[in-house]
Amino acid sequence: MEHPIIAKREVTQYILKRFGLHMNKKLGQNFLIDPSVVSGIIDAAQITPQDTVLEIGPGIGTLTQGLLEAGAEVFAVELDKRLPEILSHTLEGYDNLHIINADILKTDIKKLIGTKPFKVVANLPYYITTPIIMALLEKHLPITKLVTMVQKEVAERMAAAPGSKIYGALSIAVQYYSKPQLCFHVASNAFMPPPEVDSTVVLCNVYSARPIVPVDEKVFFNVVKAAFGQRRKTLANSLKTTGYDKDKIKTVLEQSKIDFKRRGETLSLQEFVTIADNLIKK
Ligand code: SAM
Repeated sequence: MEHPIIAKREVTQYILKRFGLHMNKKLGQNFLIDPSVVSGIIDAAQITPQDTVLEIGPGIGTLTQGLLEAGAEVFAVELDKRLPEILSHTLEGYDNLHIINADILKTDIKKLIGTKPFKVVANLPYYITTPIIMALLEKHLPITKLVTMVQKEVAERMAAAPGSKIYGALSIAVQYYSKPQLCFHVASNAFMPPPEVDSTVVLCNVYSARPIVPVDEKVFFNVVKAAFGQRRKTLANSLKTTGYDKDKIKTVLEQSKIDFKRRGETLSLQEFVTIADNLIKK
């Protein structure tokens, strides 16, 4: 079956008109209308017919079509109730597609896909980018690659290095689970309607074996949260919100060979792990 390419202004306009669809800004609906951006995302994710892909927010099927054309089996989770019906028309005839009408944050992904490794590919709704990325990574799912279109500033925070102004809890979390890499920037006129922010495609190669592992992941993330919760304070002060007293924190920082006057944004992932491990050492 021949399908017209959806990632074009006139085709998208035709689909919207044909189904009487008005885009919902609250759901972050900015549809791609540039086929070169779709193929750039497919290339970044290195999609092959052997792949199983979770797509978040297929919309009218723009990126989904690229994934299906590349031969992947696609699980497309879309929150908007109006869209599954439209998708069944725009993507009619592809037999490697599963459309799920649900909120991705409430979806049991293990139950949906099973235990096989999969890739996540998405032009994310920007109002919940960070909760989605964190939920996917924290669940220890067998994700191999996470390729997402996000707001440019978020992409830069994901890949930021210690010492930079934008380095924070998101950088640490993403880099704990994966190796992020900025792929390309996307101008706002590649979308309909154009978003008010710049966008970037970011590839996270998710570790199957994480190179740096804390003894207790919960304590590690508590330390990170405490250090960045009060960015202006020195570590000795900000870490007090972990519940440990000042003397214990000073001892731990000494054991960790970290100056207590340093601030969270200067610490590497390894240094955070060292602090967390020393905190729980008897
Ligand atoms: N993939 C399409 C494209 O590239 O043109 C649409 C991307 S649009 C930026 C984001 C999509 O995510 C919308 O279709 C929106 O309805 C959907 N969405 C928003 N919140 C969602 C959620 N919590 N779970 C699943 N999908 C969601």
